[in-house]
Amino acid sequence: MRSLSTATFRKQRSCPSSRVLLGYHGATLARRAERLVAEHLASCDFCGAELQLLSKFPPRGAPAFHHARMPWHLYRLAKDLLALSASDFVRAVETIYDSHDLTLTDA
Ligand SMILES: [Zn+2]
Repeated sequence: MRSLSTATFRKQRSCPSSRVLLGYHGATLARRAERLVAEHLASCDFCGAELQLLSKFPPRGAPAFHHARMPWHLYRLAKDLLALSASDFVRAVETIYDSHDLTLTDA
């Protein structure tokens, strides 16, 4: 019978904190941080397990998150914009601002 070691199934120095994992779960992290956590979760079983635990049993005082359903037309717009290259994205946003006479304070 093969024995499995649990020596590596623990929080490592490179692991995100529980607070960051809660932010990831609640989608409150900045985009870059969210990507880094997602990359870490792909290779760290411990943090994956911790995230599941935190999502089901958040610490007392932690904000309760619930996911709102994004309206279909906004989802489609976001998906289309995110598929563009950076230069095409800037051009598309400029076109939208110009065609609707928007300013940055209209958001
Ligand atoms: Zn980890």
